[in-house]
Amino acid sequence: MEKPHIAVLPSPGFTHLVPILEFSKRLLHLLPHFHITCFIPSVGSPPSSSKAYLQTLPPTITSIFLPPITLEQNTDPSILALQIELSVNLSLPYIRQELESLCSRAKVAALVVDVFAHGALDFAKEFNLLSYIYLPQSAMLLSLYFYSSKLDEILSSESRDPKEPIKIPGCVPILSTDLPLPFQNLSSIGYKGFLERSKSFHVPDGVFMNTFLELESEAIRALHEHVKGKPGIYPVGPIIQMGSIDHENGMECLRWLDEQEPKSVLYVSFGSGGTLSQDQLNELAFGLELSGQKFLWVVRAPSGAVNSAYFGAETKDPLQFLPQGFLERTKQQGLVVPSWAPQIQVLGHSATGGFLSHCGWNSVLESVVQGVPVIAWPLFAEQSLNAAILTDDLKVALRPKVDHSGLTEREEISKTVRGLMEEKEGKEIRKRMELLKIAAANAIKEDGSSAKTLSELVASFKGF
Ligand code: UDP
Repeated sequence: MEKPHIAVLPSPGFTHLVPILEFSKRLLHLLPHFHITCFIPSVGSPPSSSKAYLQTLPPTITSIFLPPITLEQNTDPSILALQIELSVNLSLPYIRQELESLCSRAKVAALVVDVFAHGALDFAKEFNLLSYIYLPQSAMLLSLYFYSSKLDEILSSESRDPKEPIKIPGCVPILSTDLPLPFQNLSSIGYKGFLERSKSFHVPDGVFMNTFLELESEAIRALHEHVKGKPGIYPVGPIIQMGSIDHENGMECLRWLDEQEPKSVLYVSFGSGGTLSQDQLNELAFGLELSGQKFLWVVRAPSGAVNSAYFGAETKDPLQFLPQGFLERTKQQGLVVPSWAPQIQVLGHSATGGFLSHCGWNSVLESVVQGVPVIAWPLFAEQSLNAAILTDDLKVALRPKVDHSGLTEREEISKTVRGLMEEKEGKEIRKRMELLKIAAANAIKEDGSSAKTLSELVASFKGF
């Protein structure tokens, strides 16, 4: 018989692969006699970023690519989650087959699935395994999942004032426009999918969240009160990848940063798949130029859909879409790199003083871990919720205004950039972010809140 195993199931896409595997490494650290087997569903060929990352895994984690799924091209951002779920669901026969084979040759203690891979939770019952959902996101999002049927009644009520803030238990009140994208159309299939998914959180033995007590204390407290023990609620973050600079832009970014003054550079990036419209790309370019601040900008080709690069389908040279003469005019002020930068290293560099971010949760945590204050520019998924946490609750971010046509104009961008990088408001924000950085480091130290949560949990695996 082989070593005892834990089976792990991510969902397709770089940002649903890396967090669950980084979490797996933490599990292995506490359970050194275990082995982890990760079944990876994918849509088409997996992105090169994912393949490069998998090469860095220790030999105690085996990854098995499942046969790729073909999905119809659909760039509607409100159904991105459904597409990811669908791709996992289409992979279920392969997942079952792999799991059955694993259970026949090794003792498997548990199945840990990504939030969009909950369709596989039934297999845990079938093979008599402990089961967990890994939510690579915030406690506020988990609270929203648990609260969503109640909220559905509130939002559907004809007498509701749409300007009235939404109060998710334990969370900062938000405008309904800051609820995740599917909530912006209550008759959409994306919204129905969200409500459906929310039911899956009642199925497993526990839910891991990539957050920590000191970051979202009230939301975590409210969650414990709500679930009363089942499922177990485990804040285990911040879990971030250590990153790699293998990518061709990597060294160029870091060399350029080496030449800049401490905390002088604004890093601009919209995650692994966020894209702007051509008009917004122009405004951002002019806004950065107008601000006079140094910047390092990861540029993507513009698109009508905010998430069009999510599954890795990017072929055009993004730099050709910048305003005419921009690169020449700003060559002393900034560095523009196409598509990808070594974000972890960039945020950890002493020259980086701010992060204009789409507020994907990984980016949020990476910024917190490095103590870099944020300009919040949410695009899709639950990024507006994350922006509200940073701006209204933790007060470690500024958020530029959007005009009536949905555009953030160059003057507003320039004002916000200067506000963060130069002005008193920015200095206060920076101080608060520094405190969060310390809290984040403490949470994962041996006696820290997240470390304790995880070691108590794995105690129940030790009999294997
Ligand atoms: N990332 C990176 N370089 C880039 C863009 C993104 O290394 O140029 C990494 C980033 O460090 C983070 C992840 O990709 O770990 C993006 O995750 P996030 O949750 O912020 O956003 P998503 O990609 O899910 O929209």
